[in-house]
Amino acid sequence: MLFKDLSEAFEELEKVSSQTEMIKILADIFKQADEDEIDKICYYTLGETAASYKKVTLGMAEKIVQQSISLASNLDIDVIKDETNNLGDLGEVAFTIIENNDNRFKTFFDIENGLTIQDIDNGLNKITMSSGSGSAEVKQKILAAMLSIASPIERKYLVRLITRTMEFGVGEATVLNALASAFLGSKKEKPKLEAAYNLCSDIGLIAHVLDKERLTGIKKINITLHIPMKPMLAQRVSKFSEIKQKINSSLIAVEEKYDGERIEAHKDGQTVTLFSRRLTDVTTQYPDIVENVKRYIKTEQAILDGEAVAYNVKEDVFYPFQKLMQRRRKYNVEEYMKNIPVKYMLFDVIYRDGQSLMKKSYPERRKNLEEIVEKNNLINVANRRLTDNLDEVDEFFQECLNNNLEGVVCKSCSPRSYYQAGARKYYWIKWKKDYASELRDTLDLVVIGAYSGRGRRRNTYGSLLCTAYNPEKDAFQTVCKLGTGFSDPELENLPQKFRQFLINSKPARAEVLKTVEPTYYFTPKIVVEVLGAELTKSPIHTCAQDETGKGISLRFPRFIRWRPEKSPEDATTTTEILNMYTEQ
Ligand code: AMP
Repeated sequence: MLFKDLSEAFEELEKVSSQTEMIKILADIFKQADEDEIDKICYYTLGETAASYKKVTLGMAEKIVQQSISLASNLDIDVIKDETNNLGDLGEVAFTIIENNDNRFKTFFDIENGLTIQDIDNGLNKITMSSGSGSAEVKQKILAAMLSIASPIERKYLVRLITRTMEFGVGEATVLNALASAFLGSKKEKPKLEAAYNLCSDIGLIAHVLDKERLTGIKKINITLHIPMKPMLAQRVSKFSEIKQKINSSLIAVEEKYDGERIEAHKDGQTVTLFSRRLTDVTTQYPDIVENVKRYIKTEQAILDGEAVAYNVKEDVFYPFQKLMQRRRKYNVEEYMKNIPVKYMLFDVIYRDGQSLMKKSYPERRKNLEEIVEKNNLINVANRRLTDNLDEVDEFFQECLNNNLEGVVCKSCSPRSYYQAGARKYYWIKWKKDYASELRDTLDLVVIGAYSGRGRRRNTYGSLLCTAYNPEKDAFQTVCKLGTGFSDPELENLPQKFRQFLINSKPARAEVLKTVEPTYYFTPKIVVEVLGAELTKSPIHTCAQDETGKGISLRFPRFIRWRPEKSPEDATTTTEILNMYTEQ
């Protein structure tokens, strides 16, 4: 195909704004294209010169392009600069200013009937390949040669392609729609192409295979080492109880949610490539992860999914995302690597020694992951808890917040919980601290126990067991575990505060089920004001139990303040809580 035909289609694209019209224009072009040029047409339409993950750099700054235009037009560089200011777009400058084609550059291209797509590709490849000293001049001449042969409209789009200023409002989705419409009869077939695209991240490859082999070829596209695949995404729900309704399995794996950068690692022997969530190659940014993947992943080949998190090795705590961002740099990587160590927390494996694991369920993939990771403090698998009980999900969530994590990701254990590249489905559901909406009323609860802390809280308590007062039975019935909302000094002081109330066994008036038994028991003395998000039925708490044995619990409790003026019997009663629950 001639580049002129494509340029004319681009011009048409620029004039329309409806998706349907754009799809039609592109589909027409795709139908005319050969299987060996259709990939380039896709890239050019998206303003790229190759699959975006390939990091192809032409190395042509605006200045060099201006020099090329100057050379091709025989006009002084200052004229080109002035025109750039006037017209505001180098493409327009190239369109208007180069008048006479001349023969000075004929040796660069052997062209008879005008530039073909292949010629443009060859030219761009030459530009990309020239490097080292003197390369700017070479690049400049190659572009000048192309411009001197091209017609005005071709010059416009060639320059825009090179300066990355193509703007038709066409994205990947429109290109996929147009491909489906051109080769499969309807844009309704797009999901089939999208599924393959999510695996290979190369829209040109999809177009090429589709043109050549239609769906038979597309179905054969699979994940490949060192080619990024779109990561699976997590859905969100607006109410905590929806997690259980939507997740599609009774067993839920609740994983810690880390606040770092998603990294997909490809290992093939001693070669490791790392990709970001946006599928860019970030291998050089994380030499430490590269080394740890080489060393501690026990298989020859693997594709892994996980989160890189800034980490304080001495204290064994994670830093927030902002700290990690300081590692995003081209220079001084080694120095920053030492200052800000990163821990790679793995939560999935998608490929193992020649075999794709995508169609295996989450429990099977997790088992594979456990088998291949030699765990240590720089590379590990995500901590998790398996449960069929929402209260335990809540409890794990609270623990995560106490350990300065963002929240949890609940994962379905259904046999159909495949790894779905690029998809946001309910097989993964995220729950973050900001999701919890708040109750208007606070509760005054009596502390009767505490759980020992881990990680950052190893010298204090992880959380407190809180109860409401039942005046009929004169009993303290459990409502929640409280671990969030404390300032650091308050947290540190907890063991000191409760020391005088420590007892060896459960206080006589307390009703506590085995599943929530704390590490330490206290005489019911201290009252605490707590804010929560929601009251829910719970099989593990004893507050206002109904005939089936279910109590009421407070979700997402947060410490507000101590209430020294209140006696335990002044605490919120279980009847009040029952009323609040029914009124919600
Ligand atoms: P968000 O960015 O808030 O939409 O949450 C989804 C992101 O959480 C994913 O893209 C991952 O980068 C990150 N994440 C952290 N921990 C996990 C985990 N255990 N499982 C899945 N994703 C996780």
